[in-house]
Amino acid sequence: MSLQPASVSIDLDNLWCYLKTQGEPGWETFPSYLDQVTPRILQRLERAGIKATFFIVGRDASRVENWSALRSIADAGHEIANHSFDHDVSLSGFSRHELHRDFSRSEAAIQDATGQMPIGFRGPGFCMSALMKEVLFHRGYKYDASSLPTFLGPVARLYFYFFSKLSAEEKKKRSSLYGGVAGAFRKLRPHAIEGDFMEVPVTTMPLARVPMHLSYLLFLAQQSEALAGLYWQTAVGLCRVAGVGPSLLLHPTDFLDANDVPEMDFFPAMRMPADRKMAMVDLTLQSLTCYWQTGTVADHAQAHLPAEALRPLFAEEVPVTASFSA
Ligand SMILES: [Zn+2]
Repeated sequence: MSLQPASVSIDLDNLWCYLKTQGEPGWETFPSYLDQVTPRILQRLERAGIKATFFIVGRDASRVENWSALRSIADAGHEIANHSFDHDVSLSGFSRHELHRDFSRSEAAIQDATGQMPIGFRGPGFCMSALMKEVLFHRGYKYDASSLPTFLGPVARLYFYFFSKLSAEEKKKRSSLYGGVAGAFRKLRPHAIEGDFMEVPVTTMPLARVPMHLSYLLFLAQQSEALAGLYWQTAVGLCRVAGVGPSLLLHPTDFLDANDVPEMDFFPAMRMPADRKMAMVDLTLQSLTCYWQTGTVADHAQAHLPAEALRPLFAEEVPVTASFSA
């Protein structure tokens, strides 16, 4: 029996992204840890035999000092996708014109840096809007991966507000960060949004709808690694019972500690040694390859295409009636 599809993605949020979101000074010069963290991520994926999807921020791709790290990802055969130009978590409030501008800048920079044109997108901080999806569809994207079907978004936002140095006005701008309670009722499996344009949600635990990506596991592991392991095994068990092939999300912070990046001491689990974090990454990747056919988000989306989208489209026979307005 062939295995069901699953996927692994990495939101390649850079040091300056975290400093900017947190309201810490120094982000304006776009400090980068990509040269340091990229080889670690690639090594772990290679060891697990997985081709994954890297969501890259356009600003990083526009800076030549990041090119060798970004090129190494493409050269290793991974998928390159778009994570917006400036990692602005208020993107869901952008106008149509502003969205087109953001996406085209990001696409051009990513293509220059990696030679790949992205066909997938994930909003920074899981932000999304109907207009964002419509603009992506019209730009020829094949999938969006911004959905995080959980009710814990507002809790994560409060936690972030509590520890950040942002002004009240800055916090207001980030009011959609991590999504709202309604997220718990979103679909868990990849599904078509329009024609062959798909949504591939970041998987949360079936039934409980609590996040199961690495940042959350490491947050738990700070208290008890045994508890984090049990949490992960429960999540895997529920995904198997529910027939959901997970789309697992990783971040650079899953591969780094406060010795590597002292500026990020404020971030959860940064005092846990990087070696122990990466052992947990290995464990989760092993579980995926054991139970599922694990690959890129593009492959995951493709495997869930509805039958009608798989039919060859002959212009004279099948009228294309997209319900999105141009
Ligand atoms: Zn991000």
